[in-house]
Amino acid sequence: MKKGIALAVVLGMLLCGCSAGQNNDKTSKADVSVQSQVSEESKKEESKLPEPESRDVFAMDTYMVLKAYGTNAKKALEQAETEIQRLESLFSVKLRDSDISKINATSGNPVTVNVSTRTAIAKAIEIGDMTDGALDITVYPLVREWGFTTGDSDNEPSYKIPEQWLIDWHLGNVGYDRIILNGNIVTLPTQFEIDLGSVAKGYATDAVVQILDENGIDSALINLGGNVYALGRKPDNSKWKVGIQNPLDTDKVICSVSVENQAVITSGNYERFFEADGKKYWHIIDPKTGYPADNGIISATVIGSSGLDCDALSTALFVMGTEKAIDFCKKHKEIDAVLVTKDMEKIYVTDGLTKNITMEDDLKYEVIKR
Ligand code: ADP
Ligand code: MG
Repeated sequence: MKKGIALAVVLGMLLCGCSAGQNNDKTSKADVSVQSQVSEESKKEESKLPEPESRDVFAMDTYMVLKAYGTNAKKALEQAETEIQRLESLFSVKLRDSDISKINATSGNPVTVNVSTRTAIAKAIEIGDMTDGALDITVYPLVREWGFTTGDSDNEPSYKIPEQWLIDWHLGNVGYDRIILNGNIVTLPTQFEIDLGSVAKGYATDAVVQILDENGIDSALINLGGNVYALGRKPDNSKWKVGIQNPLDTDKVICSVSVENQAVITSGNYERFFEADGKKYWHIIDPKTGYPADNGIISATVIGSSGLDCDALSTALFVMGTEKAIDFCKKHKEIDAVLVTKDMEKIYVTDGLTKNITMEDDLKYEVIKR
């Protein structure tokens, strides 16, 4: 994300702080309406509440907006920012001293890592198992080969379609099940490299929520570059409304979902991509083919209590494609999901969400029954 563009985005987010993705008008309306449409009576009530504290952070290659209500909010958000920066310094593939860089630079040899790094890797392996390898953090050499290295905000991206022999060669070094975890010691097979881009913001989301909790905050909206977590309710006691971006027109949303103590996390093909020969290539790679995952889904949103799970699963559902993702949702009632198929032909919504979703522009959806 270029910083100039991102700044405009963050200004928007300061107003609405609610979009699963970039800021957009409709979402702004959705959440700003909390302020602009409240009755005089509830305005009076709100004025008795403490002012929301807001903090914007640039980390993990994205702009983040943290908004919290309560007496300790300022202190809590300061701590949250420190924690996000700490996690970035561990997880970044670009910073030379990060745990991940150390692991990648010495693949074949054991590396002792911070407990946060160990936990994130362990969770990624667990979800790799759950998703039949759709989530595979060892896909990194291919991510880089396509030019989608994460954390590269200061440099122009070097997108390219790799030659087939290179893709085949890298595919030989992909397989999350070959990561060896022994306590805090991580060992990769030689030539392997990992990246936590698919789970880092989700991990950070949970860490921030924990800090807010410890500070007694019971109302907050945190937006880590489109990875949203709604803590408690809004000060007027209504649920938070989070917009899900329209993958074909990112100035719009397809719907908004009302949530409370839940993460709303989207993986889409419209955030990082390039076009070559009239075809679009994006940053989520199918570990089976080495190509951008193109299995029918253009946007997968997962809603649930854990940011880490939702982040990992949104990437995985995107990779799985329509049929497998629907099957997965049928088996996992602990999460809700909104799946959008190619050209927005269909929108699938899990049954747990139907009471809490408002569609835009008369869009229709099919329910995934469980
Ligand atoms: P975003 O970072 O845009 O929120 P995701 O959470 O879906 O999106 O993560 C995408 C990132 O994860 C990519 O930029 C890349 O670093 C990494 N990645 C790409 N494909 C996979 C995959 N199949 N499994 C695990 N990580 C992946
Ligand atoms: Mg993800």
